[in-house]
Amino acid sequence: MLNIEQLKQSNPLISTLQTYTPTYWYNPNYGSTIDLPLTIHDIEDAAARLERFSSYISYIFPETETLNGIIESPLKQIPAMQEQLLHQFESNASAKLWLKCDHELPISGSIKARGGIYEVLKFAESIAQTAGNLTLDDDYKILATDTYRKLFQHYKIAVGSTGNLGLSIGIMSAKLGFAVDVHMSSDARQWKKNLLRQYGVNVIEHQADYQSAVAEGRKLASNDPSCHFVDDEGSTDLFLGYAVAALRLKKQLQYNQIIVDAEHPLFVYLPCGVGGGPGGVTFGLKQVLGPHVHCIFAEPTHAPCMLLGMMTQLHDQIAVTDIGIDGRTAADGLAVSRPSRLVGQIMHRLLFGVFTVDDQQMYRYISMLHQSESIFIEPSAASGFDGITATIKQANSLGIPTGKATHIIWSTGGNMVPKDEQSQYLNYGTRLRYL
Ligand SMILES: *Cc1c(COP(=O)(O)O)cnc(C)c1O
Repeated sequence: MLNIEQLKQSNPLISTLQTYTPTYWYNPNYGSTIDLPLTIHDIEDAAARLERFSSYISYIFPETETLNGIIESPLKQIPAMQEQLLHQFESNASAKLWLKCDHELPISGSIKARGGIYEVLKFAESIAQTAGNLTLDDDYKILATDTYRKLFQHYKIAVGSTGNLGLSIGIMSAKLGFAVDVHMSSDARQWKKNLLRQYGVNVIEHQADYQSAVAEGRKLASNDPSCHFVDDEGSTDLFLGYAVAALRLKKQLQYNQIIVDAEHPLFVYLPCGVGGGPGGVTFGLKQVLGPHVHCIFAEPTHAPCMLLGMMTQLHDQIAVTDIGIDGRTAADGLAVSRPSRLVGQIMHRLLFGVFTVDDQQMYRYISMLHQSESIFIEPSAASGFDGITATIKQANSLGIPTGKATHIIWSTGGNMVPKDEQSQYLNYGTRLRYL
């Protein structure tokens, strides 16, 4: 049993979390390097696999043709939004604000298109190699033929998800020909369930929350030897799929002539749920860009599972419910009460810090971004905007200069949200801003 009173003595910030007050946690272990279970070679291996699949992807999803079947999002400067947030930048008026537009990622409109699709493709490749005749030199377009679709029909993919992971896994698996079960909590958005069913995905609804949906899915899958369970709480494949983003971002930074060095640090703000997405991206960025990129996670005040896990170093051995927090938030992808069992340890020295954001604040940013830049993103994706001021302060106190910094908000989702829900979010956000 956890002794919460004792934990609070060594981690006084727990009291702040318990009152749902937005807060900032700087990671005292940030900085020094340690041996990690994964390396840059693992990221390059994943990138090469996605490259092999590119002809198949561009054939099956014509919207990816312009990028030759590589699923990637643009990096956009957002000066009008920065103007709105000027107070956040304080004296750093020449710092620059950019948006990494994962809400535009093809196929499923969220960051989950990175990890989720990668894991399904990796599974498909291994089956096609061992039970079919696929070789590394083949044009993977042949995976769209009946021979392979029939082969894949003998296998099942299962996943538990609040929504966006289910969309990515479900759509990709169904396209390949796999049978696919998506376990969802009953409060997951109806449009996500509907969309998946249109693709022929078997959507199984669970009365309890996300974590129980995952647990139930895992149990069912473990009884079926032909079933591959995508484990959002600890999958290395998901993690590496996300990490590939770093190689791509490096090119985009170069293309946009954004320098990353001691004088020009890069701050990257990543919304965090179970931790795989932001953790994978952070791991990748630290490997690819080195010490002058600083990654910060954003979590809802009602579900700060990674903050709690990392601060106490209990990781997946503690849930926000253990300290009396309810885990309820409108930020779909972030409504997670217990962090991944894989990510926290890897982040131990790689992550700059974690901050928490009020739900209402996310809606304000949605409205602000839409008004200033005509970009729509979902609540989770907007959480990153809230950490700039505190990060600059923290960096300065550590002697990191921020006057010429670049700040990237990782916009993790939005494009799949139906138009009528988009306008509801926007109206709500606009009301909150002006009333
Ligand atoms: C899943 C998700 C995240 C966070 O990813 P995790 O791997 O759960 O930490 C952030 N934003 C959106 C929109 C998501 O769907």
